[in-house]
Amino acid sequence: MAKEIQIDSMITVGTLAEKLDIPATKLIGELFKNGMMVTVNEKIDADTAQIIIDELGLEATLVAKSEEVEAPKRQKTSDDPNAKTRPPVIAVMGHVDHGKTSLLDRIRNASVAAGESGGITQHISAYQITHKASDGDRVITFLDTPGHEAFAALREHGAYLTDLVVIVVAADDGIKPQTLEAIRFARKAGVKMLVAANKMDKEGADINRLKQQLAEQELLPEDWGGDTVVMPVSAKTGDGVNELIDMILLMADVEGLRAVESGPATGLVIESHMEQGKGPTAVVLVEQGTLKQGDFVVAGDVYAKVRTLNTPEGKSVGEAGPSTPVIVSGFKALPEFGTPFDVVANEKEARSRAEEASKSQDARGKLSGASAGDLLKAMSRTNELQELNVIVKADVQGSLTSVVDSLKTLNTEEVAIKVIGSGVGSFTENDLYLASTSGAILYGFHVDLPSGLRQLAARDNLKVRIYKVIYELLDDAKNELSALLAPEVVITDLGRLKVKQVFKTTRTEVICGGEVTKGNLAVPSNVKIYRDKEEIADVEAVRLQRGPQEVKEVMEGELCGVSLKTESKLEILEGDTLEFYTKELKERTL
Ligand code: GDP
Repeated sequence: MAKEIQIDSMITVGTLAEKLDIPATKLIGELFKNGMMVTVNEKIDADTAQIIIDELGLEATLVAKSEEVEAPKRQKTSDDPNAKTRPPVIAVMGHVDHGKTSLLDRIRNASVAAGESGGITQHISAYQITHKASDGDRVITFLDTPGHEAFAALREHGAYLTDLVVIVVAADDGIKPQTLEAIRFARKAGVKMLVAANKMDKEGADINRLKQQLAEQELLPEDWGGDTVVMPVSAKTGDGVNELIDMILLMADVEGLRAVESGPATGLVIESHMEQGKGPTAVVLVEQGTLKQGDFVVAGDVYAKVRTLNTPEGKSVGEAGPSTPVIVSGFKALPEFGTPFDVVANEKEARSRAEEASKSQDARGKLSGASAGDLLKAMSRTNELQELNVIVKADVQGSLTSVVDSLKTLNTEEVAIKVIGSGVGSFTENDLYLASTSGAILYGFHVDLPSGLRQLAARDNLKVRIYKVIYELLDDAKNELSALLAPEVVITDLGRLKVKQVFKTTRTEVICGGEVTKGNLAVPSNVKIYRDKEEIADVEAVRLQRGPQEVKEVMEGELCGVSLKTESKLEILEGDTLEFYTKELKERTL
């Protein structure tokens, strides 16, 4: 029988040779033949190792010790006899400007109870609507994924979180790179797709051309004998939107989405951020059971005693059932996007579970490119105007007016001051209460915080800023606004490589070689792969080699080898062009 070798996801060449009982030089030689120049101390991944083992004709099977962390998998249904039909969770994806935002707005407006605003505007990553269907009111949960090109990893995770992906394609423009990306993500996540052919009101709209393009992507439309549903809509006129919602519900019914409402909740973290006055806060999606105020929740290596539960619209609720997105405060630190959560009996158990998870941190998946934390920070700030809630108190009306007016001059298209309370005189208990529910900063101009309220302010971690000079107050507000600015994504083009040979292709890596036809290449970096001028993938370059030597940079005109890290199997062909670039997130100031 084949020998089984337990390994982590990576293993050093030396250790593998030892386990296989062969000289390390033999292993290195075989790796070399496969286009990999490695030393005895370097690590190779399990897939590569297995290929080499097979090529050497050795009888050994590698068994991964720790499962690779996959994107979150949802619990779509429940076998429990008490399970009931639950609302579907939908993501709307598509190419930029194809009308994703307009369509979502239209869907919200076409529905009753789009949610009363609680007066607190913040970025929401999920919300629910109630649709008047022929068989009564039906609830649908929508997940909002960021459209910016830097957030592909988050969009991909978004696809995993949903029951159905609605792919929006402008019928006058047809399939574009982000449409292909959305199709790829939905396929990878094993989620059904529904195509909304938008902008049907426009003159150039051509649904047949779109259907043709879909067919080319192996999404054969229903009326052409396939099983892809294509719904013509116009987010502008509203035509077809009700039919689209009905179709979403119909497809959800076919999926048999069920959940048990009673019992402790389980679900997933879909966003987390620091909220003024509330500390680490997460938007979670309940999958099974009911989440209640006071519950102890563990999500990976962090836990919470649920202090407040709010709907995405800001309404306070005591509990949240299946398919409901809810904002939870009370976390000790920020839980990571995509982490599953569950409810445990008490704080002791919550703490020990979180500590245990923290020890096996390394096993946790990372989003590619910039760190997950950076992306989340940026994500929660993209799309919308970010507002800074403030409460202003001043000694006299004249000063109050000038402070409030001056604060408004700081507003830009991206960030703005929102004065949610103001008045003449010292801060009152009411001001503090308002600050703690809205996360507002309390600005005082020539006024005090009465000593009787200091303890309350400290307990709720309120930001109380008292100034005697208006410019200092404005500087402070400016700094706070700067912190809300979405970081700039700086893309720097490095150079281009023409692929002449492909050495190795595994599920996680492609090694190929070629000539640098423009610029200088460096690693680590990002790489867009083009075939016949069409972009087919965007991956990371992790290693460069000139001859047998690993290098950090190669120049125009040189021949080199490059190792690309991929998340799904990628086929590169001779003649493809690789465009190297770097992507950085840079903090901005006003
Ligand atoms: P997103 O980038 O996919 O979110 O796209 P938006 O919703 O921001 O829409 C991009 C542009 O297309 C905006 O100018 C919209 O007004 C316009 N648009 C969206 N849907 C329609 C539609 O159905 N018909 C027409 N004529 N224009 C639309």
